[in-house]
Amino acid sequence: MQVRRVLLIGAGIGGLGAATALARRGVDVDVVELRPDSGVLGVGINQPANSLRALRTLGVLDEVLAAGFPFDRTTFYDWQGSLIVDCPSVLGGDVPANTALSRRDLHRILTGAAERAGAKVTYGTTARDIEDTGDRVHVTLTDGKTETYDLVIGFDGLGSPLRRRLFGTGYEPVFTGYSVWRLMMPRPAEVACTMVFQGDGTKAGVIPLSRDSMYLLHVTAEPGNPHMPPERRAGLLTERLAGYGGLVGELRECVSDSDTISYSPLSEVLLPSPWFRKRTIVLGDAAHACAPHLTQGAGMALEDAVVLAEELAVPDRAVEASLEAFMQRRYNRVKLVQDVSHQILFSEMAITAADLPGAAAHMREALPGQLKEVEGLLNQPC
Ligand SMILES: Cc1cc2nc3c(=O)[nH]c(=O)nc-3n(C[C@H](O)[C@H](O)[C@H](O)COP(=O)(O)OP(=O)(O)OC[C@H]3O[C@@H](n4cnc5c(N)ncnc54)[C@H](O)[C@@H]3O)c2cc1C
Repeated sequence: MQVRRVLLIGAGIGGLGAATALARRGVDVDVVELRPDSGVLGVGINQPANSLRALRTLGVLDEVLAAGFPFDRTTFYDWQGSLIVDCPSVLGGDVPANTALSRRDLHRILTGAAERAGAKVTYGTTARDIEDTGDRVHVTLTDGKTETYDLVIGFDGLGSPLRRRLFGTGYEPVFTGYSVWRLMMPRPAEVACTMVFQGDGTKAGVIPLSRDSMYLLHVTAEPGNPHMPPERRAGLLTERLAGYGGLVGELRECVSDSDTISYSPLSEVLLPSPWFRKRTIVLGDAAHACAPHLTQGAGMALEDAVVLAEELAVPDRAVEASLEAFMQRRYNRVKLVQDVSHQILFSEMAITAADLPGAAAHMREALPGQLKEVEGLLNQPC
């Protein structure tokens, strides 16, 4: 390997993936994470086939498949529950097309993998000062320790302080104007794949997570990004789901506990290439947060992790050349995911109840082909 000691900032999905990928190749990996412990909040997360392949490279595919619910299609309905179109996925082949699981399970699995590989994770800590001389990076941590690394990698999420430190304040997250409400619920037998329900400038959906559980999601326009008081979320979500019939209408009647509802404003980060300066790089959401409409954000972070470790393992090459090679492999693929996710979000939210019959006809005609095209690209090796 071209690097012997690496600091990873952030023990989220990408950070734990990179810690595992690098430590399995013999790199001495330190991870610092602001959270006080390994616990995470959150609902469920879908891992499409390309992400499952990255998880296979990290040695945890079987654990993920055992914890999750595999499925092979997305079905689209109108908000009264009438089927618009069934889209079988072209993802997969050697792995399932999709497997969704709880975020807690994914974190538990990735934390175990990073520890088994030998990475050292320190919670409640971050980098205070970073001095990158071009051939070494000197870091002072908030616990007072000073260390020297060959590379510093920031997987520090949407609000990345490292991105700001490297590139200034010109690439802050941009709020899309839309938010997602999510909560776990018992899974009715009919929910065996992602089901999407197109509403009046909104959409709802359900994703199976295990034999017994699923999550309900609702995407809504929230101009100005208002604060949603946690204790009022059940009422606010119920109001927003008014008008939905069928399955979503039935599920609305079961929404009662505000504490179980997760509310996420949707923001994007559009950092141009390259995502590094000298020997410091930002990856995952810190570099390319996207709308969750292809369920690819974590997949892109995990692919970043695997590809970076592969490029750093190429013999007889300078680290900077490997980071350039990494960008060559990653930028267009990540941009495709960002662009398509953005386009799906904005086009779905533009459909009103009055437009729905025409939109449904268009979806029937165009959607299977459009999904096939983007999935075909993402099914190619990263
Ligand atoms: C509503 C919603 C639904 C989604 N659904 C899916 C899905 O189904 N499938 C999918 O693949 N993706 C999905 N995503 C996207 C996915 O969650 C992210 O893309 C993924 O978590 C990015 O991983 P990451 O490691 O880059 O960042 P994160 O997972 O956000 O991790 C960042 C970590 O850095 C830590 N941190 C932050 N600042 C510091 C600091 N200064 N020092 C140390 N640590 C720090 C944080 O505490 C956190 O642990 C969804 C996103 C949203 C908003």
